[in-house]
Amino acid sequence: MKVYLNGKFVDKEDAKISVYDHGLLYGDGVFEGIRAYDGVVFKLKEHIDRLYDSAKSICLKIPMSKEEMEKVVIETLRVNNLRDAYIRLVVTRGVGDLGLDPRKCKNPTIFCIAEPMKPLLGEDGIRVITASVRRLPVDVLNPAVKSLNYLNSILAKIQANYAGVDEAFLLDAEGYVAEGTGDNIFVVKNGVIKTPPVSSSVLRGITRDTVIDLAKELGYEVIEERLTLHELYVADEVFITGTAAEIVPVIEIDGRKINDGKIGEITKKLREKFKEVRTKLGTKIYE
Ligand code: PMP
Repeated sequence: MKVYLNGKFVDKEDAKISVYDHGLLYGDGVFEGIRAYDGVVFKLKEHIDRLYDSAKSICLKIPMSKEEMEKVVIETLRVNNLRDAYIRLVVTRGVGDLGLDPRKCKNPTIFCIAEPMKPLLGEDGIRVITASVRRLPVDVLNPAVKSLNYLNSILAKIQANYAGVDEAFLLDAEGYVAEGTGDNIFVVKNGVIKTPPVSSSVLRGITRDTVIDLAKELGYEVIEERLTLHELYVADEVFITGTAAEIVPVIEIDGRKINDGKIGEITKKLREKFKEVRTKLGTKIYE
């Protein structure tokens, strides 16, 4: 397996970065998780746009154009002869000294890893708890920035692990539902689909946006508004969305079974639709 690292393709074993890299020392950097399905990189342009927005927000100037960055992703897949893959694209502040001042870091570190991944769609549903740790407030470290600092999510995941469930949901600072550790949350009640707005301390998921579009195409009303846990507990359906997870039903939250504990009709329809379009919305790897 070859990894793109600062302009070169190197063997996985040789893909190493400095212990002085501020991405490692301080989580100072940004990244994207991307999927390729059957020779198509799903919404590559949208992922690259989000990467550059995250970088801009933290004053990290990426020393290549978006077009060049797209080529990095495509080339990484080609070099590894992959058609179905999970891709990790990372830009860190680069090597500096032990102080945290970003001005000491002259060259960002850029790397791209692609690994084989078959589509996951087979999940029967997950059990979830609410984490006691809150999602980062937008005025502390806005979750809209996909930064390398994932400790907030990791702390929530640790709680899920101790509780023996699959995932944890985080509330925002005001107690409204924000998101999962690496996914966005949707609820369905009386045929209407709702998801927290981006102002509720969430990452604007590429899958989230896709699901909103697909749901509207299918004729459903989709509302972005603040949600309480109560609305989740009494929902007809709850599901999560994300690049790795795709669309996964939630069958239990904090010990409350969601409806009859089985995948809901609308969740099922959206999954089928997503499966249908995922090779149509993106950039071809091979001509
Ligand atoms: N929220 C968080 C915190 C995430 O890490 C992710 C995964 N990138 C998502 C939501 C879902 O975003 P996407 O659909 O773009 O993968």
